[in-house]
Amino acid sequence: MVMAPERDRVLQYVGGKWVGAADGSTYLVHNPSTGEPLAEVAAGDAADAAIAVGAARDAFDEGSWRNMSQEKRSLAMIAVAEHLAEVCDDWAFLESANGGATIRKTAVVDVPMAIEHFRSLAEQAMKISWYEPLPWVDIPAVSWNFVQREPIGICAGIIPWNYPLMMAVWKIAPAIAMGNSVVLKPSPFTPLTAARLVAAIDETGLIPKGVINLVTGPGPGLGEALVTDTRVDKVAFTGSTATGRKVLAGAAETIKKVTLELGGKSASIVCPDADLELAVDGVLFGTFFHQGQMCEAGTRVYVHAEIYEHFVEMLVAKARGLKVGNATDPESQLGPIINETQHRNIKEAVRRAVADGGRVLCGGGEPSDVPEGGHYLEPTVIANLPDDASAACDEIFGPVVSVFAWKELGDVISRANRSIYGLAGGVWSKDTRGAIEIARQLRTGTVWINDWHLINALAPFGGYRQSGLGRELGSYGLLEYTEVKHIHVDQNTGRQDRFAYDILLGS
Ligand code: NAD
Repeated sequence: MVMAPERDRVLQYVGGKWVGAADGSTYLVHNPSTGEPLAEVAAGDAADAAIAVGAARDAFDEGSWRNMSQEKRSLAMIAVAEHLAEVCDDWAFLESANGGATIRKTAVVDVPMAIEHFRSLAEQAMKISWYEPLPWVDIPAVSWNFVQREPIGICAGIIPWNYPLMMAVWKIAPAIAMGNSVVLKPSPFTPLTAARLVAAIDETGLIPKGVINLVTGPGPGLGEALVTDTRVDKVAFTGSTATGRKVLAGAAETIKKVTLELGGKSASIVCPDADLELAVDGVLFGTFFHQGQMCEAGTRVYVHAEIYEHFVEMLVAKARGLKVGNATDPESQLGPIINETQHRNIKEAVRRAVADGGRVLCGGGEPSDVPEGGHYLEPTVIANLPDDASAACDEIFGPVVSVFAWKELGDVISRANRSIYGLAGGVWSKDTRGAIEIARQLRTGTVWINDWHLINALAPFGGYRQSGLGRELGSYGLLEYTEVKHIHVDQNTGRQDRFAYDILLGS
C-alpha cells in the first residue's frame, strides 16, 4: 500500500517507501506569511543521504528504467504528467502557504507550468538521438565509429526555496527522462510541494521504485553528503552563487559532473523609443514578481536620459500602488519574504545603498496592514547609486530595484555587462532589429526583448560567468544528463595492416 505524506507530516521517499529520518528526528516548516508552523518534516542528514543514494544506485543497476526504450520511458512520464494535472488542485495553495509566492502566481504559473515542463521534457526526450554515426574514416584505421549516449547514473538534485515545485520538476524530469536515478533535496524551508509531487508520481506506479528519491533536512550536511558521495555521478544544483562555489569545490574531490544554476543581477535597458507604458509594467513585473525573489529578476534598470524622469515617475507611482499581504490572499500582489534572515539581509542592503549615496524613491520599509508573524517589505526603488555600489552589484533577492540613466549605447552595454553574473538581460525598444543587436552584445544566458521572466521549456536556461555552469530545459538541458561514449569497430583489418601496432612492436 502506498503511504502518501500527510499535509502536516512529511516523510522522505527512499527506494519507493516513505520513511522518517534515520535517527527519527524531525523539524518544523513555517508559513512565511504568518510565521505559523505548517508541517513537521523528517530531519534527514548525511546518513539519510547515504541510504537514498544506495536506493538510487540499486534501481539504476537493476536497470529496468534505464534500459527501457526512450519512447516507453517518455510515454510513462507523459502519463504521469496527466495524473499530476488531475491531482494538483490544492498544490497552488500549499506552494503559496509554504514558499510565500502569491496564490495569483502559483495558481497560474508555478503549478501548471511545472506540470507542463514535466510533460514537455518527456516529449523532448523522444527527439534526443542516443546513437550518432560518425563519418567513415581510414585514419588512424579503417573502422566504423559511432557515438552512443548513455544515462550518467545517479543524479543529486539540490534546490532552493523560491520555486519549490518548479525546481523539483526541473531536477527530476530531465534526469529520469534520460534514464537516470535521482535523489532530490528540497530547500529546508520549502519541502512540501516536492513531497506532494513525489507522492503523486508514486501513485501512478509508472516509475520503478528507487528511480526517484526524496530526502529532507534542515542543515547543509544533507546536501554536502550528496555532493561528496562517491556513488553520485552528477550534481544538479540550483541556489546562491556562494553555495554553488561550495558545491563545485565539494564535487571536485570525486570529479563529478556538475551543473549550477546560480544567482543574478540582471540588467534591463530601456531605449528612448520604448513603449513607455509597457516598459514600466515590464520592469515592475521583471523586478517585483515573487517579491523579487527570482534569480533572473531585472534588478538593474538603465533608462535613457531623455525619458528617465518620466519613466521613473511612472515606475514609482505604480510600485507604491502594489498590495503586499498574505500570499494565499488573492488580493496580494506581493507576498512575504521567505524568512527573518532574508528580510534582515534585504533591509541591510537598502541601508548600505543609502550609505553609498542611493536615494530611496519609494519603499525601503515594512508595509502596514500585513499579517502578524510574517516578514514583509515594500517594493523599493533606488536611484542615484554609483555603478560600483554593492546594491548595484550584489544580488539582493528581494523587492529592490535600482534605476540608472544612460546616454550612449556602447556605454550602457558595457555597464550592463560589468557584473560577476550573467543570467539574464532585457531590452525595451520598438526597434526589433536594434534590440536584437543589443541582445547579441549582452553576456547573459537569456535576453528578453520587450518582456521578462518568460521561461520556455524548449529553450536553454542558465548563466554566463558566476551565474552558473550548464543549462536546464530544452534538448540542451536533457543532454546534461547523458554521457557520450565513442565506439570504434575495426573492419577486419589483418595484422599486416595494423600500422599503429607496428610503432611499438615493429612489423
Ligand atoms: P542556497 O544556496 O542557500 O541553498 C540552495 C540549496 O542548497 C538548499 O537546498 C540548501 O539546503 C542547499 N545547501 C546549502 N548549503 C549546502 C552545501 N554546503 N552543500 C550542498 N547543498 C547545500 O540558496 P537559497 O537561498 O535556497 O535560494 C536563493 C538563491 O537561489 C538565489 O541566489 C537565487 O538567485 C538562486 N536561484 C537560482 C536559480 C537559477 O536557475 N539560476 C533559480 C532559483 C534560485
